[in-house]
Amino acid sequence: MRATLMYGAGDVRVENVPDPVIKHPTDALVRITASCVCGSDLHPYGSMKPEDGPARMGHEFIGVVEDTGPQVTTVKRGDLVVAPFAISDNTCEFCREGLHTSCSHPQANFWDGESEEGAQAEAIRVPLADGTLVKLPVAADSALIPSLLTLSDVFGTGHHAAVMGGVDERTRVTVIGDGAVGLLAVLSAKLLGAEQIILMGRHRERTDLGREFGATDVVAARGEEGIERVRQLTGGHGTHVVLEAVGHMPAYQQALGIVRPGGVISRVGVPQYEEAPIGMGSLFRPNLRLAGGPAPVRAYIEELMPAILDGSIEPGKVFDATTSLDGVPAGYRDMADRKSLKVLVKP
Ligand SMILES: [Zn+2]
Ligand SMILES: [Zn+2]
Repeated sequence: MRATLMYGAGDVRVENVPDPVIKHPTDALVRITASCVCGSDLHPYGSMKPEDGPARMGHEFIGVVEDTGPQVTTVKRGDLVVAPFAISDNTCEFCREGLHTSCSHPQANFWDGESEEGAQAEAIRVPLADGTLVKLPVAADSALIPSLLTLSDVFGTGHHAAVMGGVDERTRVTVIGDGAVGLLAVLSAKLLGAEQIILMGRHRERTDLGREFGATDVVAARGEEGIERVRQLTGGHGTHVVLEAVGHMPAYQQALGIVRPGGVISRVGVPQYEEAPIGMGSLFRPNLRLAGGPAPVRAYIEELMPAILDGSIEPGKVFDATTSLDGVPAGYRDMADRKSLKVLVKP
């Protein structure tokens, strides 16, 4: 079959690889009908060393079950399924607490990078299929597929940011980042009832979508100027919650400048730094809390799906380009150049 491999920074290729096979009785084989390129794929695209490659890529997908191991009971051949970006058993102590990204099963893992499977491909072996896969009640050619695909990562991740930030109807929220996760953090804050949602982003098309998703204000400025602008919009105090969907140090420092005393910084942008200020002058003196981490999106799929199925929300609007597998290298390039927000892949 054909699959996407990253050989190093800026070097993505689509090549022939062996077809996946069932290895464990709890595995399923899925023929992928929709996958995509993620903002987090752009981190290795910008920095991966050739000696760390080649790596299979892709961790968001919808597909049709082609075969199952003898112990798989919740999905069967022919089912259309969505997979979260982390493999989990959905039964251990951590999964039962809704923290599937800390699943204690030995086969629990993230796709690509750490496991040998990648979703920017024609097919994939799914470990722990009963825990990982969720059946979709639509056909593979449904117009809802782009929105349902966001349940794999970006919608669940934006929602996790808002949940970890404790967003409710009494909360003012700032979202830092106008990528797919930031925009869906806006939608999630709106669904949780936030009274004010300030989106910090510089791309007009993206911030316009952010307004459609529920942003009440947009701040294009960054750094000290951006902090000052948010303070002006909030009576000088900043917001109760800051959802940080970027992962670079300037975004964290911006969050520190914007959050209101007693508030929460909730991070879902994968940190590209090892150390950040947390001491007296940053988190301690104003009684700030720091929350967030890799989103257990599996925990949110059933909760977020009904509003997609009934058409009341359309998170799939974050996809602004569609390509075949052959177009994946160009899709990475376009996302890195910020010509595309998020690229849907139809193998
Ligand atoms: Zn992703
Ligand atoms: Zn588990």
